[in-house]
Amino acid sequence: MSSGVAIGHVRLLHVSNLEVGESVVLKQNIESEVQRFQDAVNLTGKQIEELGKRVTERGEDKALIEVLTLHLLLLEDKMIYDRTIQLIREENYGAEYALSCVLREAREKYSNLPDLFRERIKDVEDICRRIMNNLRGVQTYSLEDMDEEVVIVARDLSPSDTASMRKDKVLGFVTEAGGKTSHTAILARALEIPAVVGVSAVSRFAQENCSIILDGDSGKVILSPTSLDLKEFRNRQHLFKIRQSRLIEMSELEAVTLDGYYIELAANIEFASELEAITKYRARGVGLYRTEYLFLDRLTIPSEEEQYKHYREVAEKLAPDPVIIRTLDIGGDKFAHALESPHELNPYLGCRAIRFSLVNQTIFRTQLRAILRASTEGNLRVMYPLISGQTELLEANRLLESVKEDLRSEGVPFDEEIQVGAMIEVPSAVMVSKDLAPCIHFFSIGTNDLIQYTLAVDRGNEKIAHLYQPLHPSVLRMIAQVVHVGREHRIPVSICGEMGSDPLCALVLLALGIEKFSMAPPAIPVIKQLVRALTLVQVRDMGYELLQMPNTNQIRERVLDMLPKLFPNGESDIIENIHESSFLAGTR
Ligand code: PEP
Ligand code: MG
Repeated sequence: MSSGVAIGHVRLLHVSNLEVGESVVLKQNIESEVQRFQDAVNLTGKQIEELGKRVTERGEDKALIEVLTLHLLLLEDKMIYDRTIQLIREENYGAEYALSCVLREAREKYSNLPDLFRERIKDVEDICRRIMNNLRGVQTYSLEDMDEEVVIVARDLSPSDTASMRKDKVLGFVTEAGGKTSHTAILARALEIPAVVGVSAVSRFAQENCSIILDGDSGKVILSPTSLDLKEFRNRQHLFKIRQSRLIEMSELEAVTLDGYYIELAANIEFASELEAITKYRARGVGLYRTEYLFLDRLTIPSEEEQYKHYREVAEKLAPDPVIIRTLDIGGDKFAHALESPHELNPYLGCRAIRFSLVNQTIFRTQLRAILRASTEGNLRVMYPLISGQTELLEANRLLESVKEDLRSEGVPFDEEIQVGAMIEVPSAVMVSKDLAPCIHFFSIGTNDLIQYTLAVDRGNEKIAHLYQPLHPSVLRMIAQVVHVGREHRIPVSICGEMGSDPLCALVLLALGIEKFSMAPPAIPVIKQLVRALTLVQVRDMGYELLQMPNTNQIRERVLDMLPKLFPNGESDIIENIHESSFLAGTR
């Protein structure tokens, strides 16, 4: 979910079902059926060309143009074009059915190809969907090119779909799939697009152009609202804006508790273009730069030079504040056309993140070179994702050292003191954290993954979202263990998962001893307001007790009972925020 209220008209996306029931045409109609298919292909070609022109005129997104060029080539691919016509002529199939058979054949063929080519099936699906929409006379929309203000309703959106949304046109979106920590939801919050994910069957009930209200805070979606609904939610929208601007005003103030403890609030970013938000919300540097977004939606891997420029820009602009660059975390729910991401049955348990980098060392070394070179321009740090044990960490460090050695011998300067950290997001890493600590300078706990791996709950699966419980005792005890190890080894421990941006969870994290947070910049003001209203010592007193509790509900209830004591000045909006915490699926 992503905060804010959106009121507008529905734009249904990706609704074309590519599985079509068998249909045949009469012999005398075969040629006109072929013509119908050819017309749909020609129209698709024109639509893609038009889109390409508009994107070029806007002078942005070279990667998107590359993808569109590939799609134009695919339109003429024998496997799609000739084969569909062959099936219409030889089997008398209707065009839609013939196209769906062709797609099935392509899926089979691609599944037998080397990994490098498997991801291409997504492009084939995309082009077939466009042709199918034209065969059915359904308008094809593209997220990069919305021409009017709309609320998107879709079965699912990938993180790269979300990244390509035009913020000035997409008022909000609703999807059937997805959990609160899926990358699609995370991006919506970063881009400040109101969104509700995990709404079952919404794309079946929503009609194109019907009016819709979505409230990203309560998770409500209203189709064809009454005038009373409209009045109520316009009012909420207005109040939301007032609250936001008040919070931004107080962003100027330091994140210091009533008893004088400074709490670090850094930013999670996906693109260098989020620097503006960092300034607006006064984040203290970047605690997590998700560099894999540089690799999505393009056909080629970004070169060392291109990566260097991005990293340098962020380092320079934020210096002397630290910028933690996380090395590539591809896999899970993020796939790159340009990378040899293997097709896997369980991508979250597969060749993801540091595992991918250690297998694809050329890509890893290139990224490390780019980071090291940029490190002379500011306060850059390196962080490895999904470390599960010491051997992996030592191997990553060994490669880093060898890249440093190369740079030294080439006379290329870099920060010799650059700090290196490990993300703690796999339970095994928690259990061996005392063995990891001597090998690095800091830990950053990635609770989004730590929760999913600890509780065996897919973070993107809406059907089990109620089981995704950040306040589960096992999660809290793991976090406490890492904090303890961090203290023993005198290394900082921060939180960069979404849990840190939820007021109730943030309170619990403070109680467990966390003093450094990194979150989407728009979330910072609410947490800063909370920090400024409490006495840390009193919050800490609650930590031991919470760690003894046997279940999520008791933990939540205990914190809520404590609120009057923790906020003696009775700040009603903070207390309301905590009560309304939308993050705690399964506890309400
Ligand atoms: C996490 O897992 O908590 C995290 C911050 O990384 P990501 O959400 O990118 O997996
Ligand atoms: Mg993670």
